[in-house]
Amino acid sequence: MALLEVKNLKVYYFTRKGTAKAVDGVNFSIDKNETLGLIGESGCGKTTTALSLMRFVTPPGRIVKGKIVFDGRDIISMSNEEIRLLRGKEISIVFQAAQNALNPVMTIEKQISEGILEHESITEDEALERAKNQLNLVGIGDERSKSYPHELSGGMKQRVMIAMATVCNPKLLILDEPVTGLDVIVQRQILSLINDLRAKLHLTIVIIAHDLSVIAETCDKIAVMYAGKIVEQASAVSLYKNPMHPYSQALIKAYPSIKGEKKKLKSIPGAPPRLVNPPPGCKFHPRCSYAADICRKKEPIIREKEGHLVACHLN
Ligand code: SF4
Repeated sequence: MALLEVKNLKVYYFTRKGTAKAVDGVNFSIDKNETLGLIGESGCGKTTTALSLMRFVTPPGRIVKGKIVFDGRDIISMSNEEIRLLRGKEISIVFQAAQNALNPVMTIEKQISEGILEHESITEDEALERAKNQLNLVGIGDERSKSYPHELSGGMKQRVMIAMATVCNPKLLILDEPVTGLDVIVQRQILSLINDLRAKLHLTIVIIAHDLSVIAETCDKIAVMYAGKIVEQASAVSLYKNPMHPYSQALIKAYPSIKGEKKKLKSIPGAPPRLVNPPPGCKFHPRCSYAADICRKKEPIIREKEGHLVACHLN
């Protein structure tokens, strides 16, 4: 059963230079206890999509169309008070590079306990006890509970962020680039922690990343975003082994495999389009080595092929 359904979501930024269609008709759903990876380069709309799930989009951005149905309720039409209660309690997010946003003058147990006190009527001592348990759960150990952020490594700080985000047992956890900037060994440890927590806390998870190879094993399914749209969606195994969209293929070739054979990397020529005035037709056509005349004129619609949803005239 779907915990989250996103239907025809459109999020635009109204700037002086024009309207940037950061998210332009995105559809996906996530079942309970499932993990979805949202993949793509910077500026493809992944983070804006994730922010929309908690109604964190602020002016000049606005959700202009669509539905976000979470646990049977439409998030877009919720009151501000309902949204406040939902954030951190039912849906939690770990922002990109959020470990740098930990309060430098507050112990980590205190920072975790504050999130609990915001949502639950318990005493400060009870909240601190819960914070210690949470530190054990994320593999830091409660003996470090009185540590300050500067006393922790980057990987440990990321564990603290995940502890804070999961301490109120949310139904949905959003992780924005959870392993970016960490070395390969720590990346593996954090991904293993995410898998553990998913099993123990029955979490449903959205992971945002630019590197498919890093998170493919952690996800059940993957949606590849380009220029505000999902261009391919499939099970993680199938998309990683048999990507159909030229952009998915290019993304996989552009990053090293975290394990497995070494291969020569191939960068994707050019850059994602400016969203204010994107190219006509398929927005990937200026960078696509398969582009044909039709690609420059007509935008491909997403359709089902061999278990994948793919938006490409070739497929
Ligand atoms: Fe490339 Fe054309 Fe497919 Fe776009 S529609 S990805 S330009 S082949």
